[in-house]
Amino acid sequence: MEKLLIPKPMSAGIILSYKCSGSCKHCMYASSPNWPADWMSSNQLEYIISKLSETIIQSPLGPRNVGVNVGLHFTGGEPFLNFSLLSEAVKVAKKYDIPSMFVETNCFWCSCDEIVRERFKELKSYGLNGVLISVNPFLLEHVPFERTERAINIGYEVFQKNLMVYQEYYRMLFKKLNIKATLSFEEFLKRVDPTWAYYIELLPMGRAVYKLSMLFKKYPAKYFFGQSCYHEITRDWHIHIDNHGNYIPGYCGGISLGNVKDYEKIFDGIILDELPIIKALVTDIRILYNIGVKEFDYKESREGYISKCHLCVDIRKHIVEKGGELTELKPIEFYKNLI
Ligand code: SF4
Repeated sequence: MEKLLIPKPMSAGIILSYKCSGSCKHCMYASSPNWPADWMSSNQLEYIISKLSETIIQSPLGPRNVGVNVGLHFTGGEPFLNFSLLSEAVKVAKKYDIPSMFVETNCFWCSCDEIVRERFKELKSYGLNGVLISVNPFLLEHVPFERTERAINIGYEVFQKNLMVYQEYYRMLFKKLNIKATLSFEEFLKRVDPTWAYYIELLPMGRAVYKLSMLFKKYPAKYFFGQSCYHEITRDWHIHIDNHGNYIPGYCGGISLGNVKDYEKIFDGIILDELPIIKALVTDIRILYNIGVKEFDYKESREGYISKCHLCVDIRKHIVEKGGELTELKPIEFYKNLI
């Protein structure tokens, strides 16, 4: 019986729900307003945080400092859509002495100074160490930049150095372009120098492989054969757990290594013969392709693929659409909200 050993996580993100105020073209978790508001329950939240508290480590700069892939963060979807749950999550994490704790937000709710200051101060009083403000042209399509700027300015006031801007390059660019409101991505492309893309981080996975494929060179499926995702699947330096209890390796939306209701079982070792998609991914993506073609009549895309994650998610989506009920392909709604 072949087992895959998964180390316990040193850093994690908790997806309170996939529901979001917008539907960004680059979203790795395919969040959108269409998802149900099935927020993580209080019991589940406490259980998950208690388990994570055993292994989450602090930022190298100390427990009160934050970093993008260190400590614990609350995310979604958009966590500020449910401020009372977010507040509860921070209080519970504080109770378990979780270090380097922050929340990330798209700032849709930052319509006036008072609300932003009040909410940031409240969360800080419950024990939140910092905030990550997302800034990019995909959010800009539905969040006015003046709201993002407001959150950054007040965030610095409340959290000082623990206010993170991801990505600072875009903030500078939007200021230079004198943007205040929202802007469509098409309009953004018309207004910037084509070299903008050299300076940014954009992971070619999740919804981006469908909505932003025009930004990338494409390759046939066989170009990616021979590649394995062993390191991504067994990663311990940053994982996610969603509101359904799915233990998601790294940033691989739609893949579940197990349900955290059997938390310890995940780390006893995953029986690969029970999870054929995981088995294929940790071996060679060619095997996933063969499963797709032979068992689910998958047809290779004529346009090609921008990354191995594009090939991976496209085959997984096809399997789900064909009714393939595989334990590791969860949540199912992820695949329905990709496009
Ligand atoms: S190819 Fe699939 S499993 Fe591998 S990193 Fe990309 S999304 Fe994750």
